[in-house]
Amino acid sequence: MTKKDFCDLDRFMKGLTRRNPAEPNFHQAVHEVVESVMPLIRDTQAYRDASILERITEPDRIITFRVTWMDDKNNIRVNRAWRVQFNNSIGPYKGGLRFHKSVDLDTLKFLGFEQTFKNSLTGLPMGGAKGGSNFNPKGKSDNEVMRFCHAMMTELQRHIGEDTDVPAGDIGVGGRELGYLFGQYKRLNNRFAGVLTGKGLSFGGSAGRKEATGHGAVYFLKEILEYRGEGLDGKTAIVSGSGNVALYAIEKLEEMGCKTLTASDSSGFVYDPDGITGEKLDYLKELKEIRRGRIHEYADKFGCEFHADMRPWAVKADFALPCATQNEIEVADARALVANKVQALVEGANMPTTAGALCILQEGGVTFGPAKAANAGGVAVSGLEQSQNALRIAWTREEVDKRLQDIMRDIHTKCLNHSQEVHGTVDYLKGANIAGFKKVAEAMVAYGA
Ligand code: GLU
Repeated sequence: MTKKDFCDLDRFMKGLTRRNPAEPNFHQAVHEVVESVMPLIRDTQAYRDASILERITEPDRIITFRVTWMDDKNNIRVNRAWRVQFNNSIGPYKGGLRFHKSVDLDTLKFLGFEQTFKNSLTGLPMGGAKGGSNFNPKGKSDNEVMRFCHAMMTELQRHIGEDTDVPAGDIGVGGRELGYLFGQYKRLNNRFAGVLTGKGLSFGGSAGRKEATGHGAVYFLKEILEYRGEGLDGKTAIVSGSGNVALYAIEKLEEMGCKTLTASDSSGFVYDPDGITGEKLDYLKELKEIRRGRIHEYADKFGCEFHADMRPWAVKADFALPCATQNEIEVADARALVANKVQALVEGANMPTTAGALCILQEGGVTFGPAKAANAGGVAVSGLEQSQNALRIAWTREEVDKRLQDIMRDIHTKCLNHSQEVHGTVDYLKGANIAGFKKVAEAMVAYGA
């Protein structure tokens, strides 16, 4: 970065902040990408002529709607929902739906923006989008979740389609919710179409989709290590979260000989020095996926430590995989990771590292695997689910896994090549941002104004 690049970045961010006030997550995500691509913008007249930064940071369309549903006590409840159709330059909009009390437009804009570049990195023809609602599924009965999903799809269905916009799951939206959402889509439209991904295996879902984000993140870590002539065998990892990203990252780490010492939820984390392995991992899956219980039950059952209201980042290990939510690694956590000489941090969640924490990790020599590369395995297998639906076939688990491994290897290569080409260094964050950006930007330039 030259001095002029920094000034241009500063000027651009001031304008963006003015156009999008009070959206700190969105600003954080944009700043990170624009900082990486600034030298490319400086050297590419076509991007400047096309006002590419202004265009690529403005969502194509934002749909906001009310969702009215009835709870078990026959009270009418109201939530707000959104679909941010961020960019469809390289394919139909694609990205998850998040149900969580913290969901707001700022969160969904940052996620939709990130998704655009993540999807581009997969090499599959998918644009970027994100949606969701401030509906809090915690403590709701199955029937309440069903009524909410049906009410949500009653509006959402008019904005989506297999060649238009294909939602999937994210935090708070798993197999149960996608089943309810798909059922309502089918009922209202009288068509069985690949309009959602992450569907159940009996109604058009793909083998390996549930596991894909977690497995993919570990494949990405494996690529990072192999490039340095190292491996996962005999190593240890700390993982946050206990949703499908965390559970299947732990599963793949174990398969590759790496012991996971921690898992967490919003109530705290468990520390199991012997590793979350074998039957203990099966128990954790049953606890979180089926019973929807709290993480302390794992500690109670296996007699290990439970740390209430804490995150696991001070536990010593070789690798850290944040797989819970955004900004879960703050400055103090990054300092602890550096002090413990963590070798690599690979982001399973979307933007789990704050900007300040990122600086500390990079200065501290921790290799950083950014979310848009490391967790792209989930949406990549969603893309494979779309292909299978379009072809009306179903690939085996092995076929899907092979394609996932190839995609993660390819993403790793793209990150390396693009960071070396533009910045002359191995920097996965910059490489991911540049590679993801270039494909979308080239399409936008080709389309004209
Ligand atoms: N929510 C996931 C993500 O953040 C998956 C999206 C999808 O499969 O469309 O990438």
